[in-house]
Amino acid sequence: MCEKEATSLEHVPPKCLFPEKKDLPEGIDFRKNLITVPSCDEHNSQKSKDDEYLLFLLLSAKKGNIDKERHLNTKFTRAVNRTPHVYNSFCQNKSHFLSFEEGDINVESSFFVDIPRFENAIKHIALGLYYNHYGKKWNGSFRMFSSEMINEKSFNSYKANQDIHETASKIACYFEKKEARGENPQIFMYKWHTEGEDGHAIFMDFYEGFEITVVLRAFIKSVS
Ligand SMILES: [Zn+2]
Repeated sequence: MCEKEATSLEHVPPKCLFPEKKDLPEGIDFRKNLITVPSCDEHNSQKSKDDEYLLFLLLSAKKGNIDKERHLNTKFTRAVNRTPHVYNSFCQNKSHFLSFEEGDINVESSFFVDIPRFENAIKHIALGLYYNHYGKKWNGSFRMFSSEMINEKSFNSYKANQDIHETASKIACYFEKKEARGENPQIFMYKWHTEGEDGHAIFMDFYEGFEITVVLRAFIKSVS
């Protein structure tokens, strides 16, 4: 993320997304070979609240498997009971979090989302995965797509949401034949598409339902 000296290791994605053994049926382990990357103190310590926020968003979404439900009912519920003010603060922001089904916008699970904060959490994951693949930092552009988030407020939001949904579906098809990576796919799986050195697309799937695609593009080199 930065040029500072690496002093610790950071999990990619954050460790809190992966259920602990004590909350799982006997013999199940969802923390097999978790990915870690070097991190500076500042980025690692500042990140823990953002990690909680990411977990909150992923678990609150409508989509997801039984492992998501279990995580919600165990670790997450304990965390909310311990620091309710933190989770209350998560519920106040600018845009809505909705689902999209058969052409209709579904508002039943809507609440406010801090988009820049969410994007920043996903950016940490994408850049961490990039580092894990290539052993070097990514310093081009970052863009995130997800049909899990919908804008309710702009005047053309219905059309905008349809476009986002269609783009996300097209992207998902594109990754169909790519190799699924990640040792705990019930919690986190990702697929990688690369175009030379200049472009990468990463498809992420959290809890077998919450899908996000990230596009990384190299900055255009200036001609001198
Ligand atoms: Zn840093």
